[in-house]
Amino acid sequence: MDYMLSIDQGTTSSRAVVFDHGGRVVAMAQREFTQYFPQLGWVEHDAKEIWQTQLAVLREVLMHAGITARQVRALGIANQRETTVLWDRQTGEPVAPAIVWQDRRTTGFCEALRTAGHAPVIAAKTGLVLDAYFSGTKLAWLLDHVPGARLRAERGELAFGTVDSWLLWQLTGGRVHATEPSNASRTLLFNLKSGTWDEDMLALLNIPYAVLPQILPSCGQVALTDPQWLGASVPIAGWAGDQQAALFGQACFAPGMAKNTYGTGCFMLMNTGDQPVVSQHQLLSTVAWQGPGTAIRPLAYALEGSVFMAGATVQWLRDGLQIIESAAQVEALAASVPDTGDVFLVPAFVGLGAPDWDGQARGALVGMTRGTGRAHIARAALEAIALQTADVFRAMSADSGLALSELRVDGGASKNNLLMQIQANVLGVPVVRSQISETTALGAAYLAGLATAYWSGADELSAQWQEERRFLPQWEEYQRMAHAQRWREAVARSRSWAHS
Ligand code: ADP
Repeated sequence: MDYMLSIDQGTTSSRAVVFDHGGRVVAMAQREFTQYFPQLGWVEHDAKEIWQTQLAVLREVLMHAGITARQVRALGIANQRETTVLWDRQTGEPVAPAIVWQDRRTTGFCEALRTAGHAPVIAAKTGLVLDAYFSGTKLAWLLDHVPGARLRAERGELAFGTVDSWLLWQLTGGRVHATEPSNASRTLLFNLKSGTWDEDMLALLNIPYAVLPQILPSCGQVALTDPQWLGASVPIAGWAGDQQAALFGQACFAPGMAKNTYGTGCFMLMNTGDQPVVSQHQLLSTVAWQGPGTAIRPLAYALEGSVFMAGATVQWLRDGLQIIESAAQVEALAASVPDTGDVFLVPAFVGLGAPDWDGQARGALVGMTRGTGRAHIARAALEAIALQTADVFRAMSADSGLALSELRVDGGASKNNLLMQIQANVLGVPVVRSQISETTALGAAYLAGLATAYWSGADELSAQWQEERRFLPQWEEYQRMAHAQRWREAVARSRSWAHS
């Protein structure tokens, strides 16, 4: 019997999962690591701690599963995206703390680039909006602020990587410095169409070529782990950024298939096939993965839209308003009323993401009467998560010209049945919850398993995918349209509220 081993290196914890041939979870291990907030708007990780916790859970999960590394066919890696590590090639030591995707320190640099008129070219080349979120300006910041870093980088003494590269470097004992296209497409340095580092972007951000990792396929045997880590060498054969891995784990292999993950925020990704789609609605265009060839296309692309406040809206009901004691209680409270009584909550607490992208928008609660109670507000909060998702969903359909026939869902808040039913109602297509909740780790295992013939192809994996529950739309078209219209009126009232 052999197994697949998977890394899910997330923003707050490192996880490892063992899967069997049926795609079932055999064992799982998880460790949290330290978050550093050294200044307002800054978020850092200790890259060494990321590696140490990751190695610890890899060893732990093999123990839990009762297997040795020799019984592992291959290892897959899914990772938090955009987080930027810069290290010394000689010693393997990071030269500074890793700058996490949430870190806003390069906002000023992005504004300067925007003022200079670079945003349209950047969007055309990279598929990304010009924002501090992505790695390129974070790397530029490190090169400019760590003493001696730029000179050393130009001499080829330093290595840059997102967390996938950093883990690969460590796992191979410092032998391989590489990344793969889905992670590379989040750096602002990668040309979406050519699939290579973009010289103009490197020049614009003043990044020396010598610091960059080699780009290898997402699905293919890229290296062997150093035997010192797990007791034997394991082939590393599949890797992708966490959201792309989840799209793969949800078996969204065909163009037009989409998944939405309901966590703190929502991440919706839609497979757009072998062409990147230029968004007219401020969605991101990104690499989904680079497949092995036949059944899965060589370079697959995705559209991506994020909603900032999804599960976090429920946290606000719990911690801010204190009308529930636990996140799970929101379902019963919201279900105690048949509708919101025309109340809408626009959770623009940190501005609005796709498709509105309004940093000045702020939260709004509109339509209240004397009859409005906490249950209406709770229900309006769930509707807000679903309505924001529906806005992104409609933008994706319009951008891609592909009619979405269903939405596959995962993440902590997707356990809420009422939320999922509301989601189906406002979307007008079925919402399908998968049996397996570890879709991110599974996606990495699938990529590695296809590369090592553990699984035969996309068809076998599609057959393996099982729905746990399907929510069918219960609203008529006119109801859906009227509700969407009302929601957009509420959104309009939340816009441009804060002034910088
Ligand atoms: P993340 O990976 O972003 O930390 P998770 O997938 O663990 O998120 O989901 C946690 C989020 O889901 C929290 O924001 C929480 O408020 C929300 N949540 C958890 N359970 C429910 C529920 N039953 N209904 C609605 N939201 C929920």
